[in-house]
Amino acid sequence: MAKHKTHYEDCDVLVVGGGMAGTGATFEARHWGRDKKIICVEKANIDRSGAVAQGLYAINCYMGMQWGENQPEDHVRYARNDLMGMVREDLGYDMARHVDSTVHMFDEWGLPMMKNEKTGRYLREGKWQIMIHGESYKPIVAEAAKKSADKIYNRIMITHLLMDENQDNRVGGAVGFNMRTGDFHVFRAKTVIVAAGGASHIFKPRAVGEGMGRTWYAPWSNGSAYALPIAVGAKMTQMENRIVLCRFKDGYGPVGAYFLHLKTYTQNANGENYEKKWYDQTKELVGEYIDHHPTPTCLRNHAFIQETIAGGGPIHMVTTEAFQDPHLETVGWENFLGMTVGQAVVWASQNIDPKYTNPELTTSEPYVMGSHATCSGAWVSGPEDLSPPEYFWGYNRMLTIDGLFGAGDTVGGSAHKFSSGSFTEGRLAAKAAIKYIEDKKADGIKVTDKQCEDFKDAVFKPLETYQVAQNEITGGTVSPSYISPIQGLQRLQRIMDEYVGGIATNYMTNGNMLKRGLELLAWLEEDLEKVGAEDLHQLMRAWELKHRALTSQCVTEHTMFREETRWPGYYYRGDHMKLDDDNWHCLTVSRRDPKTGKFAMEKVPVYHIVDENEKKKAS
Ligand SMILES: Cc1cc2nc3c(=O)[nH]c(=O)nc-3n(C[C@H](O)[C@H](O)[C@H](O)COP(=O)(O)OP(=O)(O)OC[C@H]3O[C@@H](n4cnc5c(N)ncnc54)[C@H](O)[C@@H]3O)c2cc1C
Repeated sequence: MAKHKTHYEDCDVLVVGGGMAGTGATFEARHWGRDKKIICVEKANIDRSGAVAQGLYAINCYMGMQWGENQPEDHVRYARNDLMGMVREDLGYDMARHVDSTVHMFDEWGLPMMKNEKTGRYLREGKWQIMIHGESYKPIVAEAAKKSADKIYNRIMITHLLMDENQDNRVGGAVGFNMRTGDFHVFRAKTVIVAAGGASHIFKPRAVGEGMGRTWYAPWSNGSAYALPIAVGAKMTQMENRIVLCRFKDGYGPVGAYFLHLKTYTQNANGENYEKKWYDQTKELVGEYIDHHPTPTCLRNHAFIQETIAGGGPIHMVTTEAFQDPHLETVGWENFLGMTVGQAVVWASQNIDPKYTNPELTTSEPYVMGSHATCSGAWVSGPEDLSPPEYFWGYNRMLTIDGLFGAGDTVGGSAHKFSSGSFTEGRLAAKAAIKYIEDKKADGIKVTDKQCEDFKDAVFKPLETYQVAQNEITGGTVSPSYISPIQGLQRLQRIMDEYVGGIATNYMTNGNMLKRGLELLAWLEEDLEKVGAEDLHQLMRAWELKHRALTSQCVTEHTMFREETRWPGYYYRGDHMKLDDDNWHCLTVSRRDPKTGKFAMEKVPVYHIVDENEKKKAS
C-alpha cells in the first residue's frame, strides 16, 4: 500500500458530495461557523456534478409566500397526497418554510429567473414550479460553496465513514481515494453531512447495449448516500419507495413543462384517454386515494403500465396541438436545451418533429432517491419545534449516528424537495451540525491510525485482486478468480430487475421472489470481495458497485417488510395487491447490524401533523 500516499485532514464539518444539498450545506456551515474548518469532498467536480450537472429549466419547489401563493402547510398536504400518506410532515414543513429564502439567494447570485410580464413575479410553470434559464444553475451554487469552504476536494470518492473509538455510535470522519492520483485521503471530522445523491443503475435499465448508461436519473448517482450510513448501522426509512418516471421515450426528456406549461396531454395508440379506463380497477386497489387531486404520481404511472400491458401502447404525448403556437414550440425545445439536450438529439435521430408527430412516452426502471416524488433515505431527527418525540433526538437532520447528518436525496420521508429544497435541507443540516459542535458534543473523538489503515487496505484491494487474477484470465475478461465491476453491476441489475420489481416483471414482485432476491444478493456480496479493478477508474466503479449492492439489499428488505401495494405504479406486491391502511399506514424503518450484516425492521407511526394541529386548534 506504500504506493498510495495517505493525506490527513482534520476539520469541523465534512460535507460528502457537492451536489445541491452539499453546496447548500457548505455555504450555510460558513454562515453559522465563521471560525470552523469546513471541507467539501466530491466524487466529480462540483462545478458540474450531481443530478443538476446539465442544468434545469425549472425550480420545482418554491412556495411564493411573499405573494401569498402557497404556504408550507399546502406543500405538506401536496407531498402527503402524492406519497399516498407516507411522509415525515415535520421534515417537509421545515424545508418548505425555508425554501423561498434559498430561491431568493439563487436570484441574487445571478441565476436567470423567468418573470411573469404581467405580475412581475417569478413565472410559474405549475403550482410549485418556477421557470429558470438554468443551464448554469450548478456552477452558480458551486461558486457559493467554493467561497465558503476552507477547501473543496474534487475527484475524491468517499468509500467509508470513520467511527469514533471513544464513544459508541458517534461518527469520526470519512475516508476515500483520489481517482486521478490514487492517493488515500483521511478526513477526521467532528461532524459529517452526507449529501451524496440517490441511486441509479441498481435495477436493470431499459437502455442496455448501445444505449447503456442512458437513464432518466444521473448514471453517476451510485447510492453512496445510503450505503455509507447503512454500513455503520444508521437507521433508514421508506427504502421500498423507489421511483419510476414517466418520460419521453429513449431520451428521458422532462415532461413537467409539457404537461404544466404547454398543456399537452397523453393518449393511447387509439387516441383514447386511457387513464379514465383504469379508474375502477385502481379504486379496487387503493380506494379513495384515486379520487385525490392531483392524482398521485404513482397512480398515473399505474394507468400507463396497465394500458401498456393490456396492449394499448405505445402511449403518446399529444404535442401537435400546442406546438402550433410558435411561443409554446420555442418553450418546448428550450426546455430540453436547458437540461436534457439528448432528448432533442433522439428525436432528430428518429425523425420526430413534435409539431407534426406525437412523441412516445415510457416508464423508466426504478431509482432510489429521497428528494423527488419519493422519499427513500435515512431516518433523521426533525426540528425541535415541530417534531413529535419519535422523530426528534436533538439535532435537525441528524441520523441515528451522533454527529452524522444528511440532506437532499440522503434524507428519507421528505419528498418533493427537488433542487431548491435539497439545497435548503443542506443549509438546515449544516446549521444543526455547527450547533452540535458548539454544544461540545464532538469533543474527544478518537480515530486511530489502525482504523484508517484497515480501510486503506480494503479500499485498494480490488487493484491487488486484479494484479494477481489477471494472470488467470482464460479469454477476454473471463477469469476464475475475479469479477470485473461491469460484470458485478449487470448481475446486480438482473437480480433487482427480476426479483425486486423492475421492468422485466412490469414492476411486480412478491414475498417469494424477494426472498430469493435476498439470497442472490447475499451471494453477490460474497463475490464482491473478489471484485478486481485494472485501474483507478475501475476502482471507482468497484466501489460504486459495492455501494449500489448494499443499497439494493436495504431496498429489498424494505420491500419484503411492507406487505401491501402502497404505490401501484412504482411497484406491486403480487401477494398483497391492495393498499392496506389498517396495517400499513405507517413508516418503515430498518437498521443493519454492522457486525452481522443482518437487517432489523420496524414500523413507526406516521403523524399527520399539519391538519391534526389545525383540528386540535379548532376543537
Ligand atoms: C433527471 C432529473 C431531473 C430533475 N429535474 C428537476 C427540476 O426540473 N427542478 C428541480 O428543482 N429539481 C429537479 N431534479 C431534482 C434535483 O436534481 C435533486 O433534488 C437534487 O439534485 C438532489 O440534491 P442532492 O445534493 O441530494 O443530490 P445531487 O445533486 O445529485 O448531488 C450528489 C453529489 O454527491 C456526489 N457523490 C456521490 N457519491 C459520492 C461519494 N461516494 N463521494 C463523494 N461524492 C459523491 C455526486 O457526484 C454529486 O455531486 C431533477 C433530478 C433529476 C435526476
